[in-house]
Amino acid sequence: MTKKVRHVLGISGGKDSAALAIYLKNNYPSLDIEYYFCDTGKELEETYKLIDNLEAYLGKKITRTKAASESSQEPFDHFYNLFGGYLPSSNARWCTKYLKLQPFEEFVGNDPVISYVGIRGDEDREGYISKKANIQSIFPFRKNIWSEDVISRALKNDNIAALTEIYKFHFGQNAIERTLEIILQPISTKFTQTQKLNLLLDQGIKEFNVSIFELLKNSNYPVSHMKDFALIGNEENLVRDDIFNLLRASGVGVPEYYEKIAFEVDGKKGEYARSRSGCYFCFFQQKIEWVWLYEQHPQLYQLAINYENEKEGFTWNQNESLLELMQPQRVESIKREFLNRNITKTKSSYLLDSLDDAEAEGCAACFI
Ligand code: SF4
Repeated sequence: MTKKVRHVLGISGGKDSAALAIYLKNNYPSLDIEYYFCDTGKELEETYKLIDNLEAYLGKKITRTKAASESSQEPFDHFYNLFGGYLPSSNARWCTKYLKLQPFEEFVGNDPVISYVGIRGDEDREGYISKKANIQSIFPFRKNIWSEDVISRALKNDNIAALTEIYKFHFGQNAIERTLEIILQPISTKFTQTQKLNLLLDQGIKEFNVSIFELLKNSNYPVSHMKDFALIGNEENLVRDDIFNLLRASGVGVPEYYEKIAFEVDGKKGEYARSRSGCYFCFFQQKIEWVWLYEQHPQLYQLAINYENEKEGFTWNQNESLLELMQPQRVESIKREFLNRNITKTKSSYLLDSLDDAEAEGCAACFI
């Protein structure tokens, strides 16, 4: 039975979600997408500017949501005080849960929802995404647009017969002989789910999508309520350079914090930038990004120090306070280390390529 399904896209302030909004507007203009942004109250100015630019380009409002909206404090500070002044960390990530995921889940309520996520074709991760049953994530920048749970369900050995019938019905036995061989081979330790998925995608992305869409009709996934789904024809595989090109060509522009800034250490020239959106004090940032914050946004760096000063023994980085990190010798050594590390890296036009380990950490809600 068809049911109204909402289409939503979270704008994090990062390049990938912004590019995805542009991409979907350009390629799927009939999709009625609702855009939202979960504001922690501690975002960089550049993020708000990107959101304004994007709103103008999309010609549509981006709903700004805030956790604990009834509180007199900014969302981060509200929960920070509620949790007794404990700074979040990669092991205690209350901030993502309460400031990003919960407001998103409140925004969509219990409606069946397709949530578009900007993880790129050159990334191997799903990110920290909502697992609520009424929310289905779709990844238009990848060859495989479906989430991990959908793929596990569709390719499990119990479904071999059903998948075979669907492929035969839609494409005819003769046209897909090789594909049927792949479908009939059970997943095992010698033939993994990933191998099977990649082989099927190589045989035809659209055919694969049509079949998964059909298979999900007997499920509770939001796509089961839809008669058609435009994205099943999507065969894109967009990588980092494509994302920058989309942003620049649209006129929305690349968030300013990605732009490289020159520095010099030991007579050698280097460049730094920030690799991600999110809170200015985010604990996921690399040391060189803290140095960038210290030198480019000293007032924000000071605010980050203030949090460390509030509770004895709490620092944003393990084994080092921000006061220690900002000492001239330490700043130099971080720059030196960064410079040396990057000598061996590829000569990319984007500094992000040397910060990509950091980019892969964190979550879809904050950084994509
Ligand atoms: S950007 Fe970092 S500090 Fe802010 S909510 Fe996300 S994980 Fe937490």
